[in-house]
Amino acid sequence: MNPLTYLRPTDVPAAVEAIATIPNAKFLGGGTNLVDLMRGDIEHPDTVVDVTRLPLADIAELPGGGLRVGALVRNSHLAAHPLVRTRYPMLTQAILTGASGQLRNMATVGGNLLQRTRCHYFYDTTTACNKRTPGAGCAALTGFTRNHAILGTSTHCIATNPSDMCVALTALDATVEVESTRGPRRIPMADFHVEPDDTPHVETTLAPDELITSVELPPLPLATNSRYRKVRDRASYAFALVSVAAALRVEDNRVAEVRLALGGVGTRPWRATTAEEALRNAPATEDSFARAADAELANALPQPDNAFKVALTRRTITATLTALTT
Ligand code: SF4
Repeated sequence: MNPLTYLRPTDVPAAVEAIATIPNAKFLGGGTNLVDLMRGDIEHPDTVVDVTRLPLADIAELPGGGLRVGALVRNSHLAAHPLVRTRYPMLTQAILTGASGQLRNMATVGGNLLQRTRCHYFYDTTTACNKRTPGAGCAALTGFTRNHAILGTSTHCIATNPSDMCVALTALDATVEVESTRGPRRIPMADFHVEPDDTPHVETTLAPDELITSVELPPLPLATNSRYRKVRDRASYAFALVSVAAALRVEDNRVAEVRLALGGVGTRPWRATTAEEALRNAPATEDSFARAADAELANALPQPDNAFKVALTRRTITATLTALTT
């Protein structure tokens, strides 16, 4: 048991002031990841700043058709919101495939953006892990890699980002809004998570003293025809082997607009820009979808245990886009 200080501010200025001035402090939201990491001897904050009393738990409609989702909106609330279900069905589906009902009732949007990898070596403190201890090495590189990444890997880390919600937010071009003592800042989802390179312990572009306050979903009529498809080892409460978030608009049997992002295969939520480019104005056929998937996967670097993900990703992209043409 490590002693720690517990604070519970009730407004955003007090929360960001606390994180800026107290050494080794961490924000605590629903606690569904951080508390596990503390119990597992992986995270060791001296102070937790409980943000659950901050006024950041609303979903507001924006002029033009977008939504602003407060960082403290619970995952289950976001998935069930009528405007999310109708305007961004892929987001509802993504959230509902993640975790369990109990966890979704606790987990917040802000926490989901920051959830850490489920690489089993990261959680096993008897093994080497560059993400847990920079410079220690990576046990996964010579270990069991069924759940590891094939895109965006480095020689220092091959762990996947575990979030389903973030895959949908990436496809939807959401923007993360943050606050610190320096003022507000907006971070496009595409720039929020980073690849490991030689610093796998750095997972996002969020500064240590910044608080996520909300996520903005842009108006996107295309997203009404969208879907999240997740392939995993069991039907519930499992992380993705491969997942696909896709939105599609077809005109005259050709792809007029498409959004595509992948989960379970990338070191960050993976926007499939190469596939999107290949699909623009292409025939809306299974052959086109499979060719676009091949283009995206051309630079995949699978490990011996997860080479199956290349073919599985190709098939899942093709099936998801084909389903959106009907
Ligand atoms: Fe750690 Fe990344 Fe290697 Fe897993 S893959 S052991 S998280 S460095």
